[in-house]
Amino acid sequence: MGIKVAKFGGSSLADAEHFRRVAAIVKADPERRFVVASAPGKRFKEDVKVTDMLYRCFEMVRDGKDITEHYEKIKERYNDIIRDLGLDFDISGELEYIRNAILHRSGQDFAASRGEYLNSLILAKFLGFDFIDAESVVFFRENGSYDDEKTNDVLRAELSRHQYAVIPGFYGVMPNGTIKTFSRGGSDITGSIVARAAEAELYENWTDVSGCLMADPRIIDDPRPIKTITYRELRELSYMGASVLHEDAIFPVRYAGIPINIRNTNDPSAPGTMIVSGTSEYDANLVITGIAGKRGFSVISIEKDMMNSEIGFGRRVLDVLEDNDISFEHLPSGVDTMSVIVSTATIKDEMKRERVLSSINKRVRPDSLVIEDGLALLAVVGRGMVKAKGTAARVFTAISAAGINIRMIDQGSSELNIIIGVEEHDLEKALGAIYSEFVK
Ligand code: ASP
Repeated sequence: MGIKVAKFGGSSLADAEHFRRVAAIVKADPERRFVVASAPGKRFKEDVKVTDMLYRCFEMVRDGKDITEHYEKIKERYNDIIRDLGLDFDISGELEYIRNAILHRSGQDFAASRGEYLNSLILAKFLGFDFIDAESVVFFRENGSYDDEKTNDVLRAELSRHQYAVIPGFYGVMPNGTIKTFSRGGSDITGSIVARAAEAELYENWTDVSGCLMADPRIIDDPRPIKTITYRELRELSYMGASVLHEDAIFPVRYAGIPINIRNTNDPSAPGTMIVSGTSEYDANLVITGIAGKRGFSVISIEKDMMNSEIGFGRRVLDVLEDNDISFEHLPSGVDTMSVIVSTATIKDEMKRERVLSSINKRVRPDSLVIEDGLALLAVVGRGMVKAKGTAARVFTAISAAGINIRMIDQGSSELNIIIGVEEHDLEKALGAIYSEFVK
């Protein structure tokens, strides 16, 4: 029998009703042996996530404020779940211990992590599963980086001792015994780590949407869900702001070749999106897998006659960026021109901007040099583009038919994506034009 690891996000565990849905999903498949849980998320739009309430408690103590009332609200969230589930489970001792620890300044990460800790205790009780504290199986190094080797060894051995277990997401332990969390949304990473250590056949990530969508639903009306996407395609789309999964959650399972299935707790019969390491199959009717876009880029445009024959030109320009701690995003170049696309945030500072300009002037003596802000990048991503002729032509025709000026084009030789730069105010329109061209 194979093993599936199921991670449930905060909205999937926000109240008793959702706990019941989660239990029905878990119990429907005996292969779902290891469950990773988030802290209770929002129950309705204006609600506050328990993680945010805990961060707030930490800040209140730091600022010398009284947390009594605020902490009561956190207690209520958990006690409501326990009561509504009809569980005979008393966590008042735990709640009191945590309150004291927060009052005695046990650290921001400790406070934040208790959201998943308590939720996982309750879920384990409700499912009749063992509880494995992440504190004993997920490790960070002295410098704060995640220790994959130690974690994998210890976690693998621990999992082998349990038939069914719940593990809290989001946190682990430092060498000195203090709790440390991953960045926000980090329960996705824990799920991936557990899937790898369990040598699972599948990592299911249960959330409140039916998988990854072909485009941002705030821009495109009711975009189609993506059936299958490769890790690389997903990386390209996430980089442009499409988010369903924590960026770092991909690495542990990708390394182990375990697919991820994004599923919807509120619509468990929907197949969701499969994220796989490689497939050459694609939907010939669609050709593209998804589109995404992001504002906030700047172009450093450098022109110099005969630039292409000047050896070391590019290196000298990039040296200047490196000296100023700026990383570049794209580097389209022509015979006499080189454009370096950077995130505007990295050159916002006027002094830094001046320094970069004068250093480039000094080092390569260009005929012209300007920095232009206000660029948006959009990525058209699809493994099918290699095979389907004319995709680029369709993309550009759609954009120009919409009356949009293209400022930059960059297509990687892998033909996995086409990156297009447009004015920031044209971004939505450009995404809409491309979506309608490919999704009929
Ligand atoms: N509860 C944490 C957060 O809100 C981690 C997670 O849900 O993945 O960021």
